[in-house]
Amino acid sequence: MKISIIIPCFNEEEVLPELFRRVTAAAQQWKLEWEVICIDDGSRDRTWTLLEEQHRIDPRWRALSLARNFGHQTAVSAGIHYAGGDALIVMDADLQDPPEELWRFIEAWRSGFEVVYAVREKRKESLFKRGSYWLFYRLLSRIVSFPVPQDSGDFCLMDRKVVQVLRAMPERNRFVRGLRAWAGFRQTGLRYERQARSAGAPKYSWSKLLRLAFDGICSFSTAPLRIVFHVGLWVSLLSLAGIIFTLLQKIFPAFYARHGFPAVQGFTTIVISVLFLGGIQLISLGIIGEYIGRIYDEVKQRPPWVIQASVGVSATVPGL
Ligand code: UDP
Ligand code: MG
Repeated sequence: MKISIIIPCFNEEEVLPELFRRVTAAAQQWKLEWEVICIDDGSRDRTWTLLEEQHRIDPRWRALSLARNFGHQTAVSAGIHYAGGDALIVMDADLQDPPEELWRFIEAWRSGFEVVYAVREKRKESLFKRGSYWLFYRLLSRIVSFPVPQDSGDFCLMDRKVVQVLRAMPERNRFVRGLRAWAGFRQTGLRYERQARSAGAPKYSWSKLLRLAFDGICSFSTAPLRIVFHVGLWVSLLSLAGIIFTLLQKIFPAFYARHGFPAVQGFTTIVISVLFLGGIQLISLGIIGEYIGRIYDEVKQRPPWVIQASVGVSATVPGL
């Protein structure tokens, strides 16, 4: 039995030596065949040099270099595509996911689970970031039609069967933890404490995180489109009531004045309602645009990633 470990790396030169040491030490304990596939996601520092060096020292460390920064999810997907193990582990390069915990995942897999995902017990991150994550996972699980594990990122172990399902999915906007949940099979969560980054700065900017959240929601649900429809419906009904109100006011001005609604020159009301409706229309168009953009991305049929170099992996890009 062979375990493949997928590690996306983007400008991670500071953590790589420590990563090599700790993963190798942990994997040696398993008494199983193993390989690591590091995906250099277009780093601009010495990441690729270090990965090549490590492959020369220990050929179980293999690596791919993407031709530019394609993003974390694409890098993970590329790794999943080329890994050859019976089980596949996805983890971050920054050692926030401790390699010493991996044997628990392997044990759960051997006891019959096809997916073993990690559930974050505590996050050593800012309150605002923790709050945003909390909200996102609750929102996502409300609007999709299959069970989504809460507070579980990409850190996981997957059986070959699940990996084959993921590989067969042709989409470009990949939200790996969502695809993994969608696939089904027997899944279980293991609690662990998410560590602080071992070195270097986070490579996920706020805009990238927001993008990821959008991908998560739009690739698995059309709920936003339905919400837009409902908002439109209610706003129209509201304005219909307003029209009837004003018409009656024109016909029975005395009655209205007696009850405290004298006819006024309603300049402000007009401006406010025009702006309000304009806002709703723009938001609606934006949401529809999100989906159209995604359809456009898919129909172009471009390869999901481009590989410029590889050591220890024979890399042919799907679609090329
Ligand atoms: N990463 C990547 N491409 C990117 C951004 C990040 O391959 O464009 C990798 C990064 O090297 C790390 C993992 O994805 O191994 C998680 O990134 P980070 O630690 O910055 O994210 P966070 O832990 O803050 O969610
Ligand atoms: Mg991290």
